[in-house]
Amino acid sequence: MSNSVDRIPQLVSPSVRCLVMGAGLSGEAATELLLGLGAQVTVSDRRSHEQLGPVVSRLQALGVRFIDEDSAFRTILNFDLVITSPGVAKNHPVMEKARKLSIKVVGEIELAFRYLDIPVIAITGSNGKTSVTELTGHILHQCGLKVFVGGNIGNPLARFVSDKIKGSAPEADWAVLEISSFQLETIEYFKARAAAFLNLTPDHLDRHETLAEYLKMKSRVFNRQDRKDLAVFNLDDEYVKNIAVNSTVFGFSRTKRPDFGAFGHDGLIEVVKGSELLAQAHWSEFQLSGGHNMENVMAAVGLAGAADLSAAEALKAAKSFVAGNHRLKTVAEIDGVLYVDDSKGTNVGAVAAAIESFQRPIILILGGRDKDLDFQYLVPYVQARVKKLILIGECRQKIRRSLGHLVPTEEAESMAETVSLAQKSSQRGDVVLLSPACASFDMFRDYKERGDVFAGEVKKLKG
Ligand code: ADP
Repeated sequence: MSNSVDRIPQLVSPSVRCLVMGAGLSGEAATELLLGLGAQVTVSDRRSHEQLGPVVSRLQALGVRFIDEDSAFRTILNFDLVITSPGVAKNHPVMEKARKLSIKVVGEIELAFRYLDIPVIAITGSNGKTSVTELTGHILHQCGLKVFVGGNIGNPLARFVSDKIKGSAPEADWAVLEISSFQLETIEYFKARAAAFLNLTPDHLDRHETLAEYLKMKSRVFNRQDRKDLAVFNLDDEYVKNIAVNSTVFGFSRTKRPDFGAFGHDGLIEVVKGSELLAQAHWSEFQLSGGHNMENVMAAVGLAGAADLSAAEALKAAKSFVAGNHRLKTVAEIDGVLYVDDSKGTNVGAVAAAIESFQRPIILILGGRDKDLDFQYLVPYVQARVKKLILIGECRQKIRRSLGHLVPTEEAESMAETVSLAQKSSQRGDVVLLSPACASFDMFRDYKERGDVFAGEVKKLKG
């Protein structure tokens, strides 16, 4: 099997001098891949060696040179190729200078794709990428296929390709990849046999100046596709539904029956083609809840079609999939109150989906580091189901200005205080929902730590 792109130009020849920008997970993996391809590699990062930690000695031991970004800027002419990491802004001065001087700049995903010999299933969108990536991987695996699941999910494609060159990668027939809009900024030949664009809600507007730019960037996931390829998208999303593609569209919707695709309604998922019903399943048989998860299942079933799995097989396999941590995970039920960790709900779209998935009154914990989002988006959702807001973190005041007039609102300094306030305000039948609509870095290492601290405090109540 091949990655279905003919004649991709090689990027790396043994004498090529590469600058890798960013020494995070994908930068380290790209560096190892480049070394495996015989390139000379230099790495730059805005962080100091102390901040970077052990990656510095790991790469130095392989003969890699580290330079700071000022030297990278000054000596850019010493390089033939620049590989960027998703965390590096596309208008970074080093990259801008490289482009001006006609030095090739691509991202880790493009580099790895050019040396990949299996087809790709790619998933992008504002919310649900990780869920659908894992779900699609689960379906393929359950149906007996060998699959590499990775990308933006903390398992870079470059690591897989590098291991493959060394002969140590596990066998795989398919690569199922979560792709962020940042990674799509620098693709060229990247092509997915099947690609899904799940939804678009404002997120990362701190980096993409407008929603239109964000939409354009994410639509690049369908680049280079043709009729033989599949484009899976959300027909209910006001932005996504109008994207024009050259590929075969598998649409999914909760409001209307598509020509070819999945229709989720009245507790049922139906997969249809014209007037034909290809397969159906009852939503109650799945281990997931919420309309957004029904969308995720429909998208994954569509994607699995690219691997020649029937809709019936794919639906059956999806039934055993369990939601990932920090994504609408019930932590405990104490005195009839449900405590739910949705710490991965870091933008308003995810919070809206979380609110919509409960029929009961909600005590909602919001706040953290602002991503330049408009919290007004949440007004109708708060009005519909939220009985109280508890605000934490740096942008409490901004949230209070947007939503504080709608329901009783309190602020807390720590997660312990938050959980204690939530308990005092709750009664049997309520949900205490941590779905913060913000990044976590003001108070925590990451969203996982935020969710774990929340769960820890809830468990103390139980004790
Ligand atoms: P991503 O990888 O895009 O951040 P995740 O699967 O990690 O997506 O989920 C992030 C957050 O979005 C969680 O709070 C989750 O409950 C919510 N979510 C998952 N799928 C969807 C969807 N299809 N629409 C809206 N929100 C979703």
